[in-house]
Amino acid sequence: MIKVLDSFVADKIAAGEVIERPVSAVKELIENSIDAGARTIITEIRNGGKSYIRVTDDGCGISFDETETAFLRHATSKISSVTDLDGIVSLGFRGEALASISAVSRLTMVTRTADSPSGAKIVLHGGRVVSKERTGANTGTTVIVEDLFYNTPARRKFMKSDAREASSIIELIQQYAVCYADIRFMMINNGQTLFSASGDGDALSVIKTLYPDLARYGLIPVSGDDVNGYVSDPGRTMNTRKGQLFFVNGRLVSSNVIEKAVEEGYGGRIFSGFPAAVLFIEAEPDTIDVNIHPGKREIRFLRQNEIRQSVSDAVRRAVMTDAGVPKGFVKNIENTERESLNNNTSGEQASIREFLSSLGREEKREEKSEPSGVAETPASDDVYVPVSSSVSSASASYPSSEYKAVKEPAPFDFDDLTFKGYVFDTYIIMQGRDELYIFDQHAAHERVFYEKFMRGYNDSSHSPQPLLTAFTISVSPDVYSMSREWLDDLARMGYDIEDFGERTFIVRGIPAYMEISEAEGFAAGYAEAAGEAGGANRTVIDKLIMRSCKSVVKAHDRLSEMEILDLMKKLSDCENPFSCPHGRPTFIRVSAYEIERSFKRK
Ligand code: ADP
Ligand code: MG
Repeated sequence: MIKVLDSFVADKIAAGEVIERPVSAVKELIENSIDAGARTIITEIRNGGKSYIRVTDDGCGISFDETETAFLRHATSKISSVTDLDGIVSLGFRGEALASISAVSRLTMVTRTADSPSGAKIVLHGGRVVSKERTGANTGTTVIVEDLFYNTPARRKFMKSDAREASSIIELIQQYAVCYADIRFMMINNGQTLFSASGDGDALSVIKTLYPDLARYGLIPVSGDDVNGYVSDPGRTMNTRKGQLFFVNGRLVSSNVIEKAVEEGYGGRIFSGFPAAVLFIEAEPDTIDVNIHPGKREIRFLRQNEIRQSVSDAVRRAVMTDAGVPKGFVKNIENTERESLNNNTSGEQASIREFLSSLGREEKREEKSEPSGVAETPASDDVYVPVSSSVSSASASYPSSEYKAVKEPAPFDFDDLTFKGYVFDTYIIMQGRDELYIFDQHAAHERVFYEKFMRGYNDSSHSPQPLLTAFTISVSPDVYSMSREWLDDLARMGYDIEDFGERTFIVRGIPAYMEISEAEGFAAGYAEAAGEAGGANRTVIDKLIMRSCKSVVKAHDRLSEMEILDLMKKLSDCENPFSCPHGRPTFIRVSAYEIERSFKRK
């Protein structure tokens, strides 16, 4: 028998799509507060949000007459027609969140608009209105969600431990605090205030306070037409993408288009791991589609290539600056930065760290005592509404003021450098304005050769330049047995090379774009690398070339000052002078400040 579901059943099903876990409820409530123009948003949770979630804002509020309407499915003040869907500037638009959350919890809302003398208090259980009355309240809205999923036991089972749910919520609030730096976010967990952001609009200070780990990575400002933010020093990366936060029009999104763009921006300067990147991207609302997932976390760009280009350009410009040169003496610097962080961090910060480090322990305890389900901690029913700090606008729009445009960074300038010395027959010391730079001669040489090689390889006709005196290279038996694989490659690059028997090859001509010494090292290195790789298809050839560049550089090759200056000049002409083809830095920097600190002068 086919039946039309009654609306309460339908609501419960639909709720499951939007509200999967406590953190999804918090996300929706926070977004509503932001859409309502709040300047302050307080989030309080107990038991990881399972038993109690409260979100209080000082936004525009809802008028007494409209409180019930807000809980109807597809009730929204934010769009009214299909054409509006193409120009969404608010975080919410589906009109589903309140309906969904109230369908699976006991929900209380207290709200008042600025122009109304009294507020409204409405209580819903499982989506049904239990009571509605007038009440005194400050301007703004408080939503209390108790006993989430109390009427959907299946959903309840999918919740993780209290501590895990709590940490997802805390992470979410931190991310919003970074994005909306001009909103005062406050987070209370089990009665303990974990943090409160200043709301002064300075995203960097929020990042530093909430993400000391990211800050320690030495964040470099990124600025472009439609992208702003910070990325980490290419010399230091994280093991995961946790340090990558992307906000598009004020919405936290996951997007592999942006991930790729960031990677491209670093242009092979990442040796391993993932850089940190906090990016605020602005896109014309009609060029993005945020309506592809009920959680609205994923985003589709209609002009993917443009976004990718502009993000990667902006990141590239950022890491091509002095700030993008990896810092030397990392230990010292980390201590310095940690100290300065600790100095300007409040006690609240310490409690976040404490909380996060206690997660592991709590987890274990919980698993023993509370296998699943909602913990029965009585939640107080005091409704705390913050004093309204300003008259809020009722219109829904994402604030752009907090994208405090960062100063356009100046590209790194080799002309500022003067030669100061040469140590261990390997490292070149150059002095800049307030910093000294230590160049690794071998890495630098590798980079120079690599770019020269790639240019020649891509441009020239690859006809060999004949040698007056041929030279030979000898290879090991295994490399010899693979010669079919690499011999052709070398010929294609412009070598005139032939099997000479006895695992020896004779080279009578070399690529026009190489010097003899380079050509010798490269051919031997390439044969070795290809032999090891067991045959080179097109995709690995580039890697092999990269690896072989190393063979061109001889160890402990003492350079004269002339050769050093020549190398510097060639390096400065490189497209990416900052790292060798493998992503190792070609030079690092040490500031006068760090040196002074080490001598205890500062
Ligand atoms: P949506 O956000 O997609 O419009 P919701 O179900 O989240 O749908 O909210 C429904 C409506 O209730 C919103 O459009 C808004 O008008 C109102 N509303 C919800 N939360 C708040 C709030 N914190 N302050 C003011 N109005 C709110
Ligand atoms: Mg909403």
